[in-house]
Amino acid sequence: MTGTKPVRVWVAGHQGMVGAALCRQLAAQPGIRLLTASRQQLDLTSQAATLAFVQQQQPDHIYLAAAKVGGILANSQQPADFLLQNLQIVTQVVDAAWRCGVARVMVLGSSCIYPRLAQQPVTEDALLTGALEPTNEAYAIAKIAGLKLCQAFNRQYGTDFRTAMPTNLYGPGDHYAPGASHVIPGLMHRMHLAKVQQQAELQVWGSGRPLREFLHVDDLAVALVQLMQLPQADYQQLLGSGPEHLNIGSDDEVSIADLVQLLAEVIGYQGRLVFDTSKPDGTPRKRLDSSRIHRLGWRPAFSLRQGLAHTYQWYLSQSQLRG
Ligand code: GDP
Repeated sequence: MTGTKPVRVWVAGHQGMVGAALCRQLAAQPGIRLLTASRQQLDLTSQAATLAFVQQQQPDHIYLAAAKVGGILANSQQPADFLLQNLQIVTQVVDAAWRCGVARVMVLGSSCIYPRLAQQPVTEDALLTGALEPTNEAYAIAKIAGLKLCQAFNRQYGTDFRTAMPTNLYGPGDHYAPGASHVIPGLMHRMHLAKVQQQAELQVWGSGRPLREFLHVDDLAVALVQLMQLPQADYQQLLGSGPEHLNIGSDDEVSIADLVQLLAEVIGYQGRLVFDTSKPDGTPRKRLDSSRIHRLGWRPAFSLRQGLAHTYQWYLSQSQLRG
C-alpha cells in the first residue's frame, strides 16, 4: 500500500444515526482518510461555511448523512423547519461538491418520498407519480429536490452524484425522545420506562395495522459503502436504463402491531398494549422493491428481532437516554 494516497471521505452528519454507522463501516476499511466536522464546527445550511470546508478538506467522496429528521409528530408540527433546513443542507453540500470538483457524492432520500398510495412493493419509478403522505410532505419534498438536484448536475455537468433511497431505519444513535422519534426508538423508550415503572398498560399510537419495512442502520452503511465504491461504469450498469436512485430495503415487512409484540418480547414488557386510534397511522403500507441493489449481492445481516435486541442493548448502555 506504500505510495497509495488514501481516499478522502467526508461523512457529513457523522453525529447522526446514519453518519455514525457510515463512520463505523468506513473506519474498518483500509485506504480511507475519514473527514468529519461537528455541527458546532460547520453549519451545513451556510453556503460560505460549507464551501470553505470542502475547499479546505478536498474530499474525494462525500456521504450526505446530515438532515433534520423526525417521526410522524415532529414532521407534522414543524413543516417549515423540515422543508427549509433539508433544502438548505443538500443545496450547500451538492453545490460545494460541484464547485470543488468532488469525484463522488452520495445523497440519501427516504421511502417516504414515494406517493402515499404507490403500488407495493414500491419500485424506483414510482417517484412523483402521485400525492405524498401529508404527515411528512415537507421532509419528502426536500428529499425529492435533493435527488433531483444530484441528477440535474449529472445531466448538465457529467458529475458522479449518486442517490439512494433507504427504507425505514433504526439502530444505535437514533432519536429516542417521544416527541421527535420514529416508532422503534419512540416505543423502545416508552416501553422500557413502562417496564421499569411496572405500568400495567402502554399506549401505542394508531391502529397497529400499518405495515412497515425496517432496516438496521449498520446494514444500510454496508450497502452505501458498497455502492459508493463501485467504479462509475459498474454503477451505471447497475442503474441500467431505470431511474438514477436506488432503493435499499430489507424485504422484511411487519405490521406495527407485530412490531410492538416483538419489542415487548425483546424488552421484557408484560403489560397490556392499547392502540390509541386518536393518533395518526400515517401511510398504510411502505415497502420498497430492492431488487436492483440485490443484484450486487448485498443483503441485510440483521433480522428484525436481532436488530431490535442489538439496538436495545445499545439503548441500555446510554444512561442519558433512559432518563
Ligand atoms: P412513518 O413510518 O413515517 O409513518 O413514521 P413513524 O415511524 O413515526 O410511525 C410509524 C407507525 O408507527 C405509525 O403508524 C405510528 O402511528 C405508529 N406508532 C405507534 N407507536 C408509536 C410511537 O410511540 N412513536 C411513533 N413515532 N410512531 C408510533
